[in-house]
Amino acid sequence: MVIENMKVPFVDLSRQFSKYQSEYEEIFRSICISGQFVMGPQVEEFEKKLAEFCGVNHAITVGNGTDSMILILKSLNIGEGDEVITAPNSFIASAGAIEASGAKTVFCDVNEDLNINPKIIGEKITQNTKAIIPVHLTGRSAKMDEINAIACSHELYVIEDAAQAIGAEYKGKKTGSMGFAGSFSLHPLKNLNVFGDGGFVTTNDEILAKRLKRLRNHGLENRDSCTEWGYNSRLDTLQAGIGLFNLTKLDEWNARFRDIARMYSTGLAQNITVPQENDFEHNVYHNYVINVHERDNLIDYLLERGIETKIHYPILLHKQKSWTKNSSISQSFPLAEELNKTMLSLPIYPFLRNEEVEYVIDNVNKFYT
Ligand SMILES: *Cc1c(COP(=O)(O)O)cnc(C)c1O
Repeated sequence: MVIENMKVPFVDLSRQFSKYQSEYEEIFRSICISGQFVMGPQVEEFEKKLAEFCGVNHAITVGNGTDSMILILKSLNIGEGDEVITAPNSFIASAGAIEASGAKTVFCDVNEDLNINPKIIGEKITQNTKAIIPVHLTGRSAKMDEINAIACSHELYVIEDAAQAIGAEYKGKKTGSMGFAGSFSLHPLKNLNVFGDGGFVTTNDEILAKRLKRLRNHGLENRDSCTEWGYNSRLDTLQAGIGLFNLTKLDEWNARFRDIARMYSTGLAQNITVPQENDFEHNVYHNYVINVHERDNLIDYLLERGIETKIHYPILLHKQKSWTKNSSISQSFPLAEELNKTMLSLPIYPFLRNEEVEYVIDNVNKFYT
């Protein structure tokens, strides 16, 4: 039986804190007593564990997931005069980081899976193209084999925007291990989170790893010598301590994301379009995105019944004012634009309860029947 008048918030981080409160308090207590708030030993330990988890040689933590992308681009000398290809249906930071580096964003339409369509990347490549940034949107990997093949034949870097996809796999490989570098966010709303901003870069390239470590810390080679001008974008020791603990829970949390997704898909597939998963994929459902008709009415109907939903993301990047004010050419990306009109994200997080998931399923089905 489904209970009436339940409240299902789109996200509720306090549930995570309550569950592990004593562990979190002990982490804070011990780091505060140590006094090593910047670059304490937890930072390096966290980097070692992140590299192991993602199956790469190096992980370098930084201040947030936008800086991680900007610093990768800077470290690869990508900037003014260069072009970088990415998808138009992502969070602002995907294009924001490219623009902040000084390079120009070139958008490329997506597939039904919401990820960049490798078949049309070729049309976007010019003499100035330096990199492709596939975004693994919703915790589902882009088609990395095809993307790497195009990049290889044109000598381009592939940088994975894996902010939404930690732990996701494509043909047995973890996201962040398939491109030249991977960019991750540890924002409170990501599958692996900390209690504020945080991010990290993954790579197998030792030269890139060394340069990134320098650039995130003022360009300092050691305490006193600066070999190039850099930035201040380090992960706080407190956040590294929290991240280290949360990383031990990540597989369990991702399994729960997948369980909830399976419940939704089983319960809803007869009435709406649900996300697909191929047998060579292992998706982590950072967002659970359905495609529906009468979306606005459904949003209101669910809200009246206590269920919060969101659209990720309501304004495509090439329609943002920050883009249109400098670009006289109006562009169109038919599939991204079509999907944008029908997509809706349902609540999904490890601490969502089964009865809440059932309540959502029940109400979506009621709306359509
Ligand atoms: C969250 C996110 C980012 C940026 O991460 P921040 O840590 O918030 O700077 C970049 N790209 C995508 C796709 C994201 O979802």
